[in-house]
Amino acid sequence: MPKTQSIYLVPDELRGDLTAEEFRHLKRRVVAANKAMGYWYQQIGRDYTSMTAGHVSVKVPGTNTFIVKGRPPDRDLMSEVTLQTLVQIDISTKEKVAGEMEVATPGEIELHTCVYEARPDVISVCHGHSNYAILCGLLGLNPKIFGSEDFGVYDRPHTITSPETGIPMAKALGQHSIVMLKGHGAVAVSALSTAGKLSREGPEDCIMRLIKFEELCQITWQVFTAVGKDYEKYAFSDEIIQEARRLAITSSTRDRFPTPGKDMTKDQCYYNAAMARTFREAIEG
Ligand SMILES: [Zn+2]
Repeated sequence: MPKTQSIYLVPDELRGDLTAEEFRHLKRRVVAANKAMGYWYQQIGRDYTSMTAGHVSVKVPGTNTFIVKGRPPDRDLMSEVTLQTLVQIDISTKEKVAGEMEVATPGEIELHTCVYEARPDVISVCHGHSNYAILCGLLGLNPKIFGSEDFGVYDRPHTITSPETGIPMAKALGQHSIVMLKGHGAVAVSALSTAGKLSREGPEDCIMRLIKFEELCQITWQVFTAVGKDYEKYAFSDEIIQEARRLAITSSTRDRFPTPGKDMTKDQCYYNAAMARTFREAIEG
C-alpha cells in the first residue's frame, strides 16, 4: 500500500524531476509563501485592498510549468491559500495544466510567464502592492541610495495582464532580483546561483526580498518627508557602500557563528506561522 495518496494523484509530466513527495512539499512551500505574504499585508494594513492582489509562484524543476496561487470562486485571500486553491500553469501557453476546475488563473499571469521566459535561472516570482513602494514609484524617489542592492524600474502603472506589459516589465527586471512597478508595487525573484552551485533560494527568499524592499522604500519616504527634496545627500557614499559589501563578504555573521538547523530567512516568523498552518491543514484536510 502506498504511503501517500499523492503517488496516485500526480501525473509524471507535471512533477518533472521531483518525486510525488517532493512535489507535494514544493506545493506546501508555495502555499506557505502566499500565506506569509497575506500575514504581512495584514501587518502593514494592506488587507483592505490587496489580499487578492499578490501572488507567489515557483517553477517545477524539469518542466516548463510553475505553480501559483489561483483564484477560487468564494474567498480569495492570500492568508487563506490552500493546496486546493493552487494552479499549475504552462509557461509557453499560459494554460492551466492542473488545479481544481473552478479555481481560475490569476489575472496578472503574464507577470510570471514573461519573467520565467526572459530569465531561465529564475525559480520563484512574487508580486505585491505595498504603500511605500507605490509612493516612492509615484514620486520618482530613489530608494537605491539607502540600500546595497540595485533594482530595475518599470516606468508604467499598468497591471501586467498581457505580453505588451509583461515583456517590458521583465526587461526592466533584467538581471536584478527586484523590479519596482511605478505606482503599482514591486516584483521580486529568486534565482539559481550564478556560480553554478545549487541554489538554496526559494519562495521564502523571494517574499523576504519583497518585504525588505518595502522597508527600504519606507525609509526613503520617511527621509524625504523629514528633509525634503535634498534627501539624497543623507545617503551613504559609494565608497562606504563598497566597503560595506567587502566587509559583508569577509565577515558574514551567519558564517562566523552558524546556528545548526537555523536559516535566517526561512525562520522568519511570518513564514514559520504560514508553514505550520499549511502542514496542519494538509494533514487534517
Ligand atoms: Zn499587481
